[in-house]
Amino acid sequence: MIKKILIANRGEIALRILRACREMGIKTVAIHSTADRDLKHVRLADESVCIGPPSSADSYLNVPAIISAAEVTDADAIHPGYGFLSENADFAERVVTSGFIFIGPKAETIRMMGDKISAKAAMLASNVPCVPGSDGGIPESDDDCKKMANEIGYPIIVKATSGGGGRGMRTIFREEDLIESIQLTKTEAKTAFGNDVLYMEKFLQKPRHIEFQVLADKHGNAIHLCERDCSMQRRHQKVVEEAPAPGITEKQRETMGKRLAEACKKIDYHGAGTFEFLYEDEEFYFIEMNTRLQVEHTVTEEITGVDLVKQQIMVAAGEKLTVPSNLKPRGHAIECRINAEDSQNFLPSPGKVTRYHAPGGLGVRVDSHLYGDYSVPPYYDSMIGKLITHGEDRETALARMRGALTEMIIEGIKTNIPLHLRILDDPAFKQGGSNIHHLEKMLKKS
Ligand code: ADP
Repeated sequence: MIKKILIANRGEIALRILRACREMGIKTVAIHSTADRDLKHVRLADESVCIGPPSSADSYLNVPAIISAAEVTDADAIHPGYGFLSENADFAERVVTSGFIFIGPKAETIRMMGDKISAKAAMLASNVPCVPGSDGGIPESDDDCKKMANEIGYPIIVKATSGGGGRGMRTIFREEDLIESIQLTKTEAKTAFGNDVLYMEKFLQKPRHIEFQVLADKHGNAIHLCERDCSMQRRHQKVVEEAPAPGITEKQRETMGKRLAEACKKIDYHGAGTFEFLYEDEEFYFIEMNTRLQVEHTVTEEITGVDLVKQQIMVAAGEKLTVPSNLKPRGHAIECRINAEDSQNFLPSPGKVTRYHAPGGLGVRVDSHLYGDYSVPPYYDSMIGKLITHGEDRETALARMRGALTEMIIEGIKTNIPLHLRILDDPAFKQGGSNIHHLEKMLKKS
């Protein structure tokens, strides 16, 4: 039913999608900005369309240009990848009203999960545990806000219902700061997201970030594909991810997984999605749902053997899931995000890759659009690839990662490979189960 897919993204994920399409015998259309003519997937695609100048606003976020590219190439479906327009409900709607299949959930589902208050309400209605906090938005009066914060117990966090990317939130430790902090966050939220509705929740002080991958089709089937631990973060950006999450028991996995599969049915979810949780003192607390493919989907693929992009495409085409519902994790997988940046000061390091050598061997996977002589443009995210290792246990996956990072050669630009080698040497990381503040603390020490 789907014969041609337009890939509305760039870089490694565009290549990842192209590879799945090729395997399935589906033709591909690459779209690209004028700065991205030399992207690997553009060269490999059946057709390519230049949709605008380098700036993302004029190219990868340019909805009319993307829709007309789909029209002129006669594509059947559009895959949004991650980032850019992948969680934009208006785009999903526009794709469908223009006569194409959107590879992702329905626009209304994206909209509901994109608003954090309605997402939380939907989760509570599905028995998914959430962080204790306000039932909906915060009250109008200062006194009621103070009362609510006292009932929840300090520290608390106020968050914008339309917030994203770690913005539009503020932690408050004392009552005397409450009202001023709410006002500040409201003003910021209004400017950044055009919506100043805030909600309040308990601030968890030492949580881990654990998320569950789900898949659901249009025939009422929904399954979970185990969890990932993404606690190694810097400035709310994930740096290293792994699956399964160290220390999570089979029973916890089954209980949560089943509940989330049920939640998918309840919200009529279609495709691949991720439920993100903070995990503290052996309890899960839902924070948000990502209604798209995630960067770190690879570690789930490694431990389950399921091609998530292929399943996304099949679901979008109206087919049934072909994955058993009682999947058990097989071994352990780790992903290191390779960024074009200085590993000391984290400044981006675009430019020409003068030499490139990818590692290999058993249990080593490289998802990257790099090649020798490729120039990393300065306009986009600094991630230039992902290195993933898999082994029968965590120790083997870590040992393989060390070997693979040492083998990988990227010259001409700076990368964060030295940072990854340091993380692999960190005793707490080696042990597993660090909280979301660990990496920043580790960096401060040096
Ligand atoms: P965004 O959509 O902006 O990523 P999230 O709700 O996912 O917003 O929160 C981003 C990050 O903020 C979380 O990964 C966590 O580090 C922190 N955070 C959010 N809510 C809480 C909370 N209740 N307690 C502690 N930290 C939180």
